[in-house]
Amino acid sequence: MNDLSATDRCVKCGLCLPHCPTFALTGNEADSPRGRISLMQALGEQEVLWSDGLFRHLDQCLHCGACEAMCPSGVPFGRLMDEARVVIEPRRQRSLLQRLLRRTGLGIVASPAGLGITGAVLGFYRKSGLHALTNRLPGLPATVRRLNRLLPASHATGHSAHANTPAPEEKRGSVNLFRGCAGSVLDQQTLQATTRLLQKLGYRVNVPAAHPCCGALHRHNAAPDTAQRLAQTNLEHFSGNDDPVLVTASACTAQLQAYANLYAGKAATAFAARVSDIMHFLATAGLADLHFMAPQQKVAVYLPCTHRNVLGQQQDVMQVLQCLPGTAPRLINPDGGCCGAAGAYLLSQPELSDRLARRVAARILESGAEIILTTNIGCAIQLQAALQAHSATIEVLHPVVLLERLLPAPHSPSTKGT
Ligand code: SF4
Ligand code: SF4
Repeated sequence: MNDLSATDRCVKCGLCLPHCPTFALTGNEADSPRGRISLMQALGEQEVLWSDGLFRHLDQCLHCGACEAMCPSGVPFGRLMDEARVVIEPRRQRSLLQRLLRRTGLGIVASPAGLGITGAVLGFYRKSGLHALTNRLPGLPATVRRLNRLLPASHATGHSAHANTPAPEEKRGSVNLFRGCAGSVLDQQTLQATTRLLQKLGYRVNVPAAHPCCGALHRHNAAPDTAQRLAQTNLEHFSGNDDPVLVTASACTAQLQAYANLYAGKAATAFAARVSDIMHFLATAGLADLHFMAPQQKVAVYLPCTHRNVLGQQQDVMQVLQCLPGTAPRLINPDGGCCGAAGAYLLSQPELSDRLARRVAARILESGAEIILTTNIGCAIQLQAALQAHSATIEVLHPVVLLERLLPAPHSPSTKGT
């Protein structure tokens, strides 16, 4: 039974409207949180007018959490949007191909084996030159062209099962590393840099041989049963010890911590309490003792919506970067805003997604930054593609990758730079 009754908490004050990225783009009340809550309320009425417009305005929500973070009435907007999408899913008219693509996409990220195969295929596709060749084909379908554009550089793709790696100077205990679905396929360099940095700090890093996606993609896309199954599997995968579970993508951190509220039970609560975003963990890990070198390039930070609005830990990112000598990196989006990645949004809503990405890319170019740091893989992919469209040679990295690069080389502290 779907519960949209919490929509009644909305007093229609409109204080959330200036914070909503889609309302900022379209200026349409139906693309604002207040408008969407009215649409959700209509879903519960007898005579609902099921229309493409109704689906579109709900689909165009980014699930960015900006409205929920500032709502004075405590409207649980994210949960309501999840519920609303479950309600409308059976009413959609999807073509056979659309249904197949949706099922395949959600299925691949739910399966460690599927992820492994996808990672290997994408790695080969990128490194072999097929990627560049395909791009030159005339009449390439727009979706394939888009996927090609978003596929990160070869150094980041590929799937490798990290072995449990003993730290050379292990002295501070053990931690678990949650790889994530997109992270394990598209962002190996962040996982490897995180492992090396944690080892340098004296931790043993355990990486489970295989674990599925956190389930956020399924929860936000009308597949709550799959999301729950994935949560159960993750609880089992990480039940072998009580050590912290560290996560390098803020969207995954948010979902894993939400297990406590989503799935009742002691195991879910205890697991969620162990989950920490890597930046939160590093903020109190004594990084200054590592004596990092100063970055040679101008560095700026783009803060993902999940880090700001859902985790509420934006200060951790800036605090961690204080361990770097030199000028503190500038925050590109101090006033919020979204890059338009938002899980599957960058594929399902190409037009709005691109418009949002262009806005952030313009700010980055204006800042003169040569390296952009961001804490979510989806945002990194989106920004990289948006900057490449400007032929800008700006690196987009997770902060841990930069930190690991700036560790002094053993026995030769002054030789390593970015
Ligand atoms: S969601 Fe919250 S902030 Fe937005 S209109 Fe409703 S009560 Fe006001
Ligand atoms: S979650 Fe984000 S995009 Fe969706 S209504 Fe709220 S502020 Fe707007």
